[in-house]
Amino acid sequence: MEKIGIYGGTFNPIHNGHLHLLQAALDRLRFDRVLVIPTNIPPHKVERDLASNKDRLEMVRLAVEGMDRVWVSDMEQRAKGKSYTILTVKKLRAMFPGAELTLLMGADMLLSFDRWHRWREILALASLAAFARSEGETELLERKAAELGNARVVRVEPLPMSSTMIREMIRRGEDISALVPEKVCAYLREKRLYQE
Ligand code: ATP
Repeated sequence: MEKIGIYGGTFNPIHNGHLHLLQAALDRLRFDRVLVIPTNIPPHKVERDLASNKDRLEMVRLAVEGMDRVWVSDMEQRAKGKSYTILTVKKLRAMFPGAELTLLMGADMLLSFDRWHRWREILALASLAAFARSEGETELLERKAAELGNARVVRVEPLPMSSTMIREMIRRGEDISALVPEKVCAYLREKRLYQE
């Protein structure tokens, strides 16, 4: 049975914490492929702090270039509207009827999962794999995973960072080259994204 990982996010911008999760998922969960799916953001919402669909998608592409088994999908951006995970999972279930689907997510997303739109339906179609974002979160995550069912915690050394932190650093003119892949760093500079 094909094993497919689904990794959605705003990726505003993608950073090394995202890639750390992705690589750990590939190494530890033995996926045949992982789809990385940036959310749709309607053009009228795009402003200094929120890059366009095109820019976020392009940075994701640059970041995963050359990574085996990783596919970038613009399906949520093409679908327009609000990117509800249930809609994406249903589409993927129809596209890959026999596959085992697993949603990849960081701690914050697992902890709020039972507030997601139609979360029970999501859990009936896909399992969850969660990763700590900072030290000492594992126990809390394990408890949440057990409570939800069809969810597991993958124990890896966390790489604590966020897109918010990167946007703030750019605004302050600080060096972010240790936090994002080189090509993403060059793209951010060239397009002057998130600057004042
Ligand atoms: P923001 O700071 O803008 O809220 P973010 O850094 O949380 O952004 P998202 O694009 O919202 O990034 O996250 C996409 C997915 O990646 C989510 O499941 C999130 O939990 C996970 N994630 C983000 N950063 C990390 C990290 N450093 N380690 C593990 N998972 C992460």
